[in-house]
Amino acid sequence: MSTESTLSTLSTVSTESTLSTSPQPRVFGRLAIGNAFLACTVSLFCVGCDRLPATLGTEEYFGMSAAVHFEKVGPGIYLLRVPFSSTWSGVYLVRRGERAYLLDSAASAEGVDNCLVPALAELGLTPSTVTALLHTHTHGDHVGGHYRLRELGLRRCVSYAGSVAKLRDPLRYNKLIRAAFPAHSSPPAAVLLGIEADVVMQDGESLDGLRLLHCPGHDSDSVCYLDEAGGTLLTGDSLQGNGTKSQGCALYMDLPGYVRSIERLQNEKIERVVMGHPYLPWEEPVVEGAAQVRTFLADNLAIVAENGRRVAAWYGEGVRDLPELARRLITSRGNQLPEYLFLTMYTVREHLRAMGVSY
Ligand SMILES: [Zn+2]
Repeated sequence: MSTESTLSTLSTVSTESTLSTSPQPRVFGRLAIGNAFLACTVSLFCVGCDRLPATLGTEEYFGMSAAVHFEKVGPGIYLLRVPFSSTWSGVYLVRRGERAYLLDSAASAEGVDNCLVPALAELGLTPSTVTALLHTHTHGDHVGGHYRLRELGLRRCVSYAGSVAKLRDPLRYNKLIRAAFPAHSSPPAAVLLGIEADVVMQDGESLDGLRLLHCPGHDSDSVCYLDEAGGTLLTGDSLQGNGTKSQGCALYMDLPGYVRSIERLQNEKIERVVMGHPYLPWEEPVVEGAAQVRTFLADNLAIVAENGRRVAAWYGEGVRDLPELARRLITSRGNQLPEYLFLTMYTVREHLRAMGVSY
């Protein structure tokens, strides 16, 4: 089904009917706390999860700077930071008049019920009045809430063509990622339900002014969406810097693809970047201004090159053990070692392959 043929069927909806029932949040600094939020717990099970507590309780939320309401980060662009492990996973909202698009759905049904739905309600939206749900890739912390949104009346799921099969069974892929380094991988998700895409997009196609840019590297189906009117690039996990604090290092499963993707973005007109996690060294997820975006992209390339130099140097000193190389890469960046090393082991393996060493 082509994007154009289905676009005309994406009907607009009135948000007025939901406004009167929206909960009014109490605001503590940057935290908006509604009754539903106080009960907010998030199951943890995704690819980026290095520790696996059963839930994340309210206390941890208060210790974080994460907001639980949509923050405006650009013209018509909003970001919701849904708590996830010791960090957060971003959900984007793009508004076009009465039309509203969600990009990504956080990690779980609980995240949808306790964080995303209340945050939508603050803006007069419900899952059934969202025009369409898109995603940046099919890792659990980005599509873990898709099934629940469908249960709650989501009308349309839009997928990059390369994600359709994974989206149908994300748990299978969740397990596959862990199969490469089983001794160093976190347990797979307990629950991760898939859905069928209603609309399939190809690289370069646009949906209501959102242009899909296939940016492989982090994973094969990673995409960015560029809001061409405002110049906002929504990157999800496509650009990782030095990874998150809990991860300790960027995860790229395809090094040449990752570099090509950054170089591709350097040729786009971008006014701001909104990341999907608080990546180091920036931590704040929004990069504002064309000049700053150019620096941000160059910094991402520089980090990859430096990772490569470090791995090559240790390998040259005789270090052959993949987990040990991963540990060194993380600690050399000043980061804490995660409980599971598999994500950084993918990154190290890519650098070894670039040196002609196969694992
Ligand atoms: Zn990811």
